[in-house]
Amino acid sequence: MSNQDQNHDLTRNTDVVIVGGGLAGLFCALKLAPRPVTVISAAPLGQGASTAWAQGGIAAAVAEGDSAEAHAADTIAVGAGLVDERIALGLAREAGARINDLLRYGVPFDRDLEGKLAVSREAAHSARRIVHVRGDMAGKAIISALIEAVRRTPSIRLIEGFAAEALLTEDGAVIGLQLRKVGDATAKPVTLASRTVVLATGGIGHLYAVTTNPTEASGLGLAIAARAGAVIADPEFVQFHPTAIMVGRDPAPLATEALRGEGATLINDKGERFMIARHPLAELAPRDIVARGVFSEIAAGRDAFLDATKALGAHFAEKFPTVHASCMEAGIDPAKQPIPIAPAAHYHMGGIAVDEHGRTSLKGLWAGGEVSSTGAHGANRLASNSLLEAVVYAARIAEDIEGSVIAAPARLPAESPTPRNGAMPVPAEKSLRTMMASHVGVIRDAGRLAEAVRVFAAIEQDADNIALRNMATSALLVATSAWARRESRGAHYRIDYPTEKPALAHRTMTTLTAAREIVASLSERAPARTAQPIVA
Ligand SMILES: Cc1cc2nc3c(=O)[nH]c(=O)nc-3n(C[C@H](O)[C@H](O)[C@H](O)COP(=O)(O)OP(=O)(O)OC[C@H]3O[C@@H](n4cnc5c(N)ncnc54)[C@H](O)[C@@H]3O)c2cc1C
Repeated sequence: MSNQDQNHDLTRNTDVVIVGGGLAGLFCALKLAPRPVTVISAAPLGQGASTAWAQGGIAAAVAEGDSAEAHAADTIAVGAGLVDERIALGLAREAGARINDLLRYGVPFDRDLEGKLAVSREAAHSARRIVHVRGDMAGKAIISALIEAVRRTPSIRLIEGFAAEALLTEDGAVIGLQLRKVGDATAKPVTLASRTVVLATGGIGHLYAVTTNPTEASGLGLAIAARAGAVIADPEFVQFHPTAIMVGRDPAPLATEALRGEGATLINDKGERFMIARHPLAELAPRDIVARGVFSEIAAGRDAFLDATKALGAHFAEKFPTVHASCMEAGIDPAKQPIPIAPAAHYHMGGIAVDEHGRTSLKGLWAGGEVSSTGAHGANRLASNSLLEAVVYAARIAEDIEGSVIAAPARLPAESPTPRNGAMPVPAEKSLRTMMASHVGVIRDAGRLAEAVRVFAAIEQDADNIALRNMATSALLVATSAWARRESRGAHYRIDYPTEKPALAHRTMTTLTAAREIVASLSERAPARTAQPIVA
């Protein structure tokens, strides 16, 4: 029987369960082979994973003259004082070995004429160290190779089209999880017993109305861990990409930052280059400063555009075929017209707190990839470090699980603890995502954050749809920690506290209980007025 044919008996007792079919989940499953594992993926493999959309590649100090120490130093510099230096160095040191693993699994990384790995440069890296595939196809090539490898591995059982919606625990230890068929809110839940669960569910970008992330990146993994009592780290740190293309698509396609490198400018609807007044490097300022510039123009009622008509003109299609195609599909010819843009939620630095083995604070629960927070990114992520972190921690988790004793099968209650589920109320989901973008987004202030906290707490309490409730849980964690961090640091910008405070140079470690204490303290205060537009 092939591994896909084994989907029928969902309740069969399982030793290791991995939730997530992106880079972190699949790599971990392959590393654990031949130990039997079950991989659960909300979307069919290859879809619904940010991994497949990665364009740049993986940061790895593999070129002559580069070093893990230099890579770690760049990571630390970008992370705005919150990077765990030991973790960053460990990540950089293991990059070469993990790239070799990916090559063995069949990822066709580009090579130079001498046959060595070809490396390109990205912003804030002091050396050329991004390994890539056919220009901007890294994500697609990585996921395709891993899916093929997984399908060839008989010890991996795949359950596609089911979402994990709750972790089941006993005395602080994980004993299983509850799943439900995606797209059928009234379907009966399925419970799966396991004392070894790995969450690899990706990020939270889709909690925001404007995002580059797939729908499945709705923070459900973060929420189920938090609801089971796990410690959550740095949830307030969300990286925004400054130039998502606003052509009515959700998620929004990306206009790569390389366009600005080629001379494309940012203009408002009056044709003014608004970044000139904001930073000496204008359009080439750091990503978060550009994102704030674009956000401020839009908040002030002016539309923002990326104008490549002079810099690229007729060469646009040949140099940036993916962006060109996204624009043309929407009736915009970027060779002749400015591209409408907005900042979009792109990457979550925060997540389930894990140690250097990927262990969470709950016995039997590991987390890897974007859903976790290892301390490697601090308050801002260095480009192309996320795929690296996913692959390094997936391997470490596999090694840690391999070294642990196989626990006796867990016994679950006969009845699912939360059998009922209502239909997803689309307007409530929409207003949560809109509020995340307007109140917990690129520019934040106390009044808006407090308002968002109250709204998310109410949604969380009232929702009878479990996915919406879980989205509200994750939104609440981000909003409460953003409210509590009274400074600006890295990707977290507070207009009411616009500077970095040395006394606050420490990571946030929180729980859902702590978030609810903030909800309680805010509900005792009068709501602040938030009528003014926020413009930095
Ligand atoms: C457009 C774009 C470009 C990027 N470019 C780069 C780049 O060049 N370099 C780089 O390093 N990083 C890049 N990133 C970030 C990087 O792609 C992600 O951080 C990384 O791929 C995350 O991998 P993952 O395995 O943790 O999650 P994902 O690849 O997102 O996979 C998550 C998996 O979990 C599943 N899932 C989610 N919730 C549930 C649930 N409740 N139950 C069951 N399954 C669930 C999903 O279906 C999916 O299979 C980019 C991100 C985007 C969006």
